[in-house]
Amino acid sequence: MTLPYSFELFPPRTPNGFDRIDRTVEMFAKLDPAFVSVTFGAGGSDSRHSLGVLQRLLDAGVPPMAHLTCVGLDVEQASRLVRSFLDAGITRFLALRGDLPHDAGDRVTDLRSAAELVQLIDRVDTEREPYQSLLLPGLRRSEIRDRQSKTEISVAAFPNGHPGAGVHRSDVAALLAKQSAGATMAITQLFFDPFDYLEFVDLARAKGVTIPIVPGIVIPTSLRRLERSAELSGERLPTELARRLDGASDDDARRIGVDTAVALIDELRDHDVPGIHLYTFNDHRPAFDVLDHIGLTSVGASPA
Ligand code: FAD
Repeated sequence: MTLPYSFELFPPRTPNGFDRIDRTVEMFAKLDPAFVSVTFGAGGSDSRHSLGVLQRLLDAGVPPMAHLTCVGLDVEQASRLVRSFLDAGITRFLALRGDLPHDAGDRVTDLRSAAELVQLIDRVDTEREPYQSLLLPGLRRSEIRDRQSKTEISVAAFPNGHPGAGVHRSDVAALLAKQSAGATMAITQLFFDPFDYLEFVDLARAKGVTIPIVPGIVIPTSLRRLERSAELSGERLPTELARRLDGASDDDARRIGVDTAVALIDELRDHDVPGIHLYTFNDHRPAFDVLDHIGLTSVGASPA
């Protein structure tokens, strides 16, 4: 059974980090993923680094997805940011609010939710049409949009609730708001128990969410990675897994991490998930191993 898969990368913080990214992009290109998403620092701090990685993906023929956060940006700043990504040839976005810096004020002009960013991306994309019509005279606006604008906007979903919300219900409401704003797909925060995802999807469907909800999967190949993932996501640390990783050799820890991710994906596949999104921490090898174990690597792709 085929299952679409995708990966997440983050932009390197130093120019040297781009060497590793080049290698990772080259390896991912062999796998023919549905897309590779590239994270984005809050407040627009590293949009050039994100664009650098996205450009590499485009050059390698890998469909890129740009994460964008809007927290701390006013509408004009966010519009400029979106335009710069569209101008670079990006047509897939993951629209996020982002995390508020502690010293952030409460400016009324700022965008306040991912749903608002979804609408903004759509509006900026639509505003580009008049320029496109100059290139394609004789076509109606709707025809131009059908031909030219393939922009797809995804959003985040939180099976165990957003840390700021605390209860499931409000996160289904948030997802519904993002869908109403025009989002066509959701990618979930990481989770460790398949039941958490399945229960969330059932609840979301019951409340009217119809867009695909793709599970985000972390491959916990070290105790440090597991702890960091739990900390960033606000998930409870799975203590038994932490105990097994604690003190394991690098090879054993990698095997434990891959086995853990494979077991989770196997459970999810029994329930007809629309795809899997792997959080890679810019390391292609565990991702290759996971896909290999579940029988999804393409012929000719070999880990190195
Ligand atoms: P929103 O959904 O807009 O708001 C967060 C929470 O507010 C909601 O979950 C809900 O609890 C509440 N809320 C919002 N709207 C409503 C509503 N209408 N009704 C009820 N409640 C509501 N951060 C980065 O800085 N860069 C990244 O690249 C990045 N990538 C991510 C990728 C994924 C797949 C995920 C899951 C998260 C990512 N994050 C990233 C983290 C994300 O920015 C934070 O979790 C942030 O705190 C919330 O962003 P959001 O888009 O979910 O916000």
